[in-house]
Amino acid sequence: MNFTIIAGARPNFIKIAPIIHAIQQNNDREERDKIRFRLIHTGQHYDAKMSDTFFQELNIPEPSDNLGCGGGSQAEQTAAIMIAFERDLILHPADLVVVVGDVTSTLACSIVAKKQGIKVAHVEAGIRSYDLTMPEEINRMVTDSITDYFFTTSTTANGNLLKAGVAENNIFFVGNVMIDTLLANKQRFRQPPVWGEAGLQKQQYLVLTLHRPSNVDEGQKLMQLIDTIIANTHGLPIIFPIHPRTKSIFHALGVLPENLHIIDPLGYLEFNYLVQHSKAVVTDSGGITEETTVMGVPCLTLRNSTERPETVAIGTNELVGTQPEAIVEALGRLFAGNWKKGGIPELWDGKAADRIVDLLVRLHA
Ligand code: UDP
Repeated sequence: MNFTIIAGARPNFIKIAPIIHAIQQNNDREERDKIRFRLIHTGQHYDAKMSDTFFQELNIPEPSDNLGCGGGSQAEQTAAIMIAFERDLILHPADLVVVVGDVTSTLACSIVAKKQGIKVAHVEAGIRSYDLTMPEEINRMVTDSITDYFFTTSTTANGNLLKAGVAENNIFFVGNVMIDTLLANKQRFRQPPVWGEAGLQKQQYLVLTLHRPSNVDEGQKLMQLIDTIIANTHGLPIIFPIHPRTKSIFHALGVLPENLHIIDPLGYLEFNYLVQHSKAVVTDSGGITEETTVMGVPCLTLRNSTERPETVAIGTNELVGTQPEAIVEALGRLFAGNWKKGGIPELWDGKAADRIVDLLVRLHA
């Protein structure tokens, strides 16, 4: 068996790590068929803090190739990745291409593979926000329209795929690889320097992350969100590891409140230490709502929709939206000690990647 695994952006690295480790374990077992694999980094995220750090911390092997396709518009980047990956795949044919998540690389590489007659496995298939203003939603829908094997994180995702006409026997509810990484590394989380620098104490600060174009591309809107949060968090420190996309606009915003600590993006182990010990996380990320659910940390999502409804129905996440009144109300409940406790979704148990690799071995035997 000869697989090509694709990763391009920060959340991808966190998702491929357990899959690669499960393949390595499979190959260490004498009785098992061996899986040869090439890891392709598309170069979508190229900043060391958004890429290299994760390879080191999560023990991901050096990629076989880096396609160097960072930057550009949505179309430019999609096109660049497709051209480079087509060449790579012609030179190194595979039996299966494994894509994860919902980034531009996921979309571009699944199209290239399918057009070369190579099967595609999509990890985290079937999740839907049904908000087509999000580029990620388009990536999910297109990828799932040509995927062969659908590995899902929830029964809701299974339902979305069935509704779209996917054959039931190609859908495999395996759990959540992001949570595999979380549980495998929990003991290794470590305090970042900002802990001492900002004098942080457990449950006495908030973590903020924002990177969705709808929240960060307009300076005024971003500032309104931040002002509302600052005015309703009783002076607690707010730690804001800033995504490169958000950083570019921040420069233009002028003087910022003292308790807002803007720092570079953190590595995985430091970021999740901060999340684990925070009073709450305010975010527009998708993956972080899954991690806060499993760690039992209150999460306020500044979006109107989510592709991960189980984090709301079962977990600690709430879709607050972006209206100031709604943010004020939700923070009020948090500070009154009235946030829901939450539980853990089915099969988010740290073993999703083992299930995926077992299934792939069986399907390709
Ligand atoms: N993350 C990190 N450092 C940070 C911010 C986030 O390691 O400074 C991790 C976080 O723990 C999660 C992933 O990055 O695993 C989420 O990525 P992001 O929010 O960029 O993407 P999304 O999940 O929204 O696609």
